[in-house]
Amino acid sequence: MTQPIQQILLPGTEADDRADFIGGSDAHHVLGLEPWGCPRALVLEKGQVPPDVPRQTTKDMDRGKLLEPVMRQLFMRDTGLHVAQDGPVMEAMAQWAQAPGYLRVHLDGLISPPTPAQWAALGGTGPAPDGPGVYEGKVPRSAGFWPMKRDGPKLGYLAQVLHGQIITGTRWGVTQASEADGLNHLRWLVQWDDGFAADYLAAASRLWAQAMSVRALHVGDLPTAKERHAALESLPDLPPRLPAHDSRCRRCPHRITCQDEAYMAALDLQAIGTETMLRMDDSPEWQQAVARIREFEPVLEEAKMQVEAGKDTIKFLMGTGTLAQGAGARVTYRSHDQKRVDGKLLEAKFPDVFKQVTKKVPQRPLLITLL
Ligand code: SF4
Repeated sequence: MTQPIQQILLPGTEADDRADFIGGSDAHHVLGLEPWGCPRALVLEKGQVPPDVPRQTTKDMDRGKLLEPVMRQLFMRDTGLHVAQDGPVMEAMAQWAQAPGYLRVHLDGLISPPTPAQWAALGGTGPAPDGPGVYEGKVPRSAGFWPMKRDGPKLGYLAQVLHGQIITGTRWGVTQASEADGLNHLRWLVQWDDGFAADYLAAASRLWAQAMSVRALHVGDLPTAKERHAALESLPDLPPRLPAHDSRCRRCPHRITCQDEAYMAALDLQAIGTETMLRMDDSPEWQQAVARIREFEPVLEEAKMQVEAGKDTIKFLMGTGTLAQGAGARVTYRSHDQKRVDGKLLEAKFPDVFKQVTKKVPQRPLLITLL
């Protein structure tokens, strides 16, 4: 009986042993690539530092897991290539044992060797490879899909395919991004690149050694984030911290240990300054109002994202066109110059006139941050 690839590639390793190896989904961290890569976060995770904030499974992750098999079927249907997830492609693993032990992979699949026509259709140049390639599938929502159609793939996604190539000994692969709610697909061929692979292996080896120093110090056994932070500070060679306001830090499970609790608190307090803080913790009406906002704000965000994604798609489809109609919608998309008064210039050149035409309008915006 043939073994599934994931058993061959992850001997004795379950998914929750992620601290024991650098896997394909860590590839974006190794070189600090978009969308969320941070080498320091990788060192903390592999150094067995416990997360300050529990990792949460998002709806996007759930949706991706459910849709990935369907998208893989569509890849096979559209390209005529077979994506295997079991034994017949094992011979391609010739170099697996040569990859450093801390690098492992759980592949989405291996693509059968392409014919010259299939290779050309994928955008390949030169002779078609005679061995299989790595397949990785992503299922972003429209809001993530259309910017990639415009700007190209996230480099972290391509690095994941390269990671699979290093371990399996394959020399090509495809990243497919499938729009979760529109069934459109983007496919990028990722060909082996000696220079990129060398940089990747050097960075992975350096980060793994740093993670082992964090483990040797038993940073993960220290009871408070403050103590863990201080212990990490004694290791000067760790990858540098990103600024705490970076969007990657805002969603990083290690953000308190890494950035220090006091610093994170200071970030929140900056906006408060010297004003008096009214404490509302005991007010049931306040609690109800916050609960209502907490519940419905994500719905509003989702709705806004869907509308913006729709607009992005329309802009993309219209290209340089200025008027379009279809499916009961008429759209104009015209450039025009808008006349605006340059306040700064007016104030600099005609300060008296500026004074006369400027009046103060009282405002009191309500800004809510859900902590
Ligand atoms: S808090 Fe920021 S800098 Fe620190 S590990 Fe996380 S993402 Fe990296």
